[in-house]
Amino acid sequence: MIRPRSLWAACCALALSAGAASGQTVKWTTERSINRLTEHVYRFGTTQNAMFIATSEGIIVVDGDCNNMQWLRSELQSRFKVPVKYVVLSHDHQGHICDTHVFADTAVGIGHVNIRPHIVREKRQAIVPQVMFEDRMEIELGGVRVVLLYLGPTHSDNMIYVHVPSEGVLFAPDFARGRNILPDFRDLDIHNALKALRTLAYLPDVTIVLEGHDRSTTTQQAFLDFHRYLQAVRDRVLERMVAGKTLAEIRKEVTMDDFKDYNQSSARVLVHVDTTYDYLWRYREPTVGGPQMPVRAPRD
Ligand SMILES: [Zn+2]
Repeated sequence: MIRPRSLWAACCALALSAGAASGQTVKWTTERSINRLTEHVYRFGTTQNAMFIATSEGIIVVDGDCNNMQWLRSELQSRFKVPVKYVVLSHDHQGHICDTHVFADTAVGIGHVNIRPHIVREKRQAIVPQVMFEDRMEIELGGVRVVLLYLGPTHSDNMIYVHVPSEGVLFAPDFARGRNILPDFRDLDIHNALKALRTLAYLPDVTIVLEGHDRSTTTQQAFLDFHRYLQAVRDRVLERMVAGKTLAEIRKEVTMDDFKDYNQSSARVLVHVDTTYDYLWRYREPTVGGPQMPVRAPRD
C-alpha cells in the first residue's frame, strides 16, 4: 500500500520543483486553512500566515494565529501523530505569535535574545522562549535542517528569518511584503533594514518566500520592491532635513506620487514620512552655521 507521504514524494516532488523553478505561487483565502508548500513545509492561518515544518520525528511550528491554535493543535495531532517539538517566534508582535503557548507542554520556545523582554514587558499572549540565540541557529529534526537567521535590528530589534534550504522556503513575515508597505516604520531600523532586504533578496536556496499577510507565496523580488520604496522615502526625507525644511514642509513635498503602482494611501504615506523623519532625526547632527533643527523632534 502506498502511504500518503510516499505518494506525495512519488507524484508531487517533481511537479513542485518544476513549479518552484518557474516561480509558481501557492494561493489561499482568508478561511482558516493549512496549505502545503513543499514536502515538509506548510502554511497555516486565517487572515495572517504562519508556518510549520512536519518531519517524522516531530513538528516545528513557526508563529501563531489568535484563537486558532487549539484548532491547529488538533489538526497536527490527527494528521501527523508526532509532537510539536519546537515553537519558533519570528518577532515579538502579538498578532504573529498569538496563542503559541498551547504547545508549551511538548515544545521548547525559540527566539532571538532580544525577544524575551518584549514578550514579558508587553504581556504577549505567547510561549516565552527558553532557548535564545544571537546571530544564527540551526535546528535539525527528522532529517530536515531549519536555519534561523538574525540580520540585526530591522522590523523590531528581534526579527528573525526562517529558512528551510533543502526545500527552498524562506519565511519573512512583515518583511517580504513587497509593494504592500508596512503601515508605519515605528520600530523599523531603516538603514539596517535596507541592508537586510538586499541580503534576503540574494540569499541562496530560496524559491518560495512566505510573508505574514499575503494571500499567496511570493519571491525574493518582494524584498527588492520594499527596498526601492524604503530607500526613496529615506533619501527624500533626509535631503529635505539637510536643507532645513520643517516636518510640515516635508510632509507636503514627499508624496511618493511616482510609486502609484504600490497603491499606498496618502494617509499611509504621511505616516511613512513621519516615522522616517523620527528615525533620521536621531541619525544626524546639523553642521554649525548651516540650517538648524530643534533639538526636540517637533510633534503635531
Ligand atoms: Zn510585525
